[in-house]
Amino acid sequence: MQFPQALETVLQTLERLRDETGHRPCASRTVLDALEQIAPARVRENIPEPKIEPPSPDLRRTDGNKVEKLAAIQGRVAGCTKCPNLASSRTQTVFGVGNPDAEIMFVGEAPGADEDKQGEPFVGRAGQLLTKIIKAMGFPREEVYIANVLKCRPDTPGSSYGNRPPTPGEMQTCRPYLMEQIDIIKPKVLVALGAVAVEGLLGTRAPMRELRGRWDSFNGTPLMITYHPAYLLRNQSPSEKRKVWEDMMLVLERLEKPISEKQRNYFL
Ligand code: SF4
Repeated sequence: MQFPQALETVLQTLERLRDETGHRPCASRTVLDALEQIAPARVRENIPEPKIEPPSPDLRRTDGNKVEKLAAIQGRVAGCTKCPNLASSRTQTVFGVGNPDAEIMFVGEAPGADEDKQGEPFVGRAGQLLTKIIKAMGFPREEVYIANVLKCRPDTPGSSYGNRPPTPGEMQTCRPYLMEQIDIIKPKVLVALGAVAVEGLLGTRAPMRELRGRWDSFNGTPLMITYHPAYLLRNQSPSEKRKVWEDMMLVLERLEKPISEKQRNYFL
């Protein structure tokens, strides 16, 4: 086992001990000194320094238990090297953002170049459209939770720009982190954005025209499938935009939110 994987295993064990016993495990000065001695190995192996991202401001204003649990996963994700090529090419991991008590959780496929730079999901052009959709539904962006199946930007060897979809193997490897996030947040409704997110969540592949606009279920949580906002940027047809909006109205109805006349007539 290489050093980064071994370190991650140790961290996971310590976190489990802390969670199960309610006590923070202690390490002697000798052990800490030994770890400091080992640290340069990571530098020799050219593994980037894991960035432990602080909880977002939204994480700080809710149920402390959820905040701590999410922060613990976020810390593990920040140091994760299970996909060595992605760990070495990423600027940082992109964990997720929003209200840990969110009623709606949006799930996309993977960070792109903008998200990799900023460390937040859905901040590029597609993200701006998603924010517009969320606001049209009547929520501030901070009120929902947004995450991806993959927490690292899929690498594009030989090219410094462009994005590629994650492979099924990468999604399979990273999926447990998303499962933990969903398990903690417990949203009333999940929204899968695009066919790749559906594959990451449900393991099924099908054309979006067959998947979208109907309720599915993910481990007992209602799951609405709709187009990825990037698809709407590529396909500006009003009828495609209307379909996404109709899917979002189904979500509002499921949550028993009032829908105004203006919202019913809304076009993205
Ligand atoms: S994609 Fe997920 S599993 Fe792979 S290195 Fe990144 S955080 Fe780890």
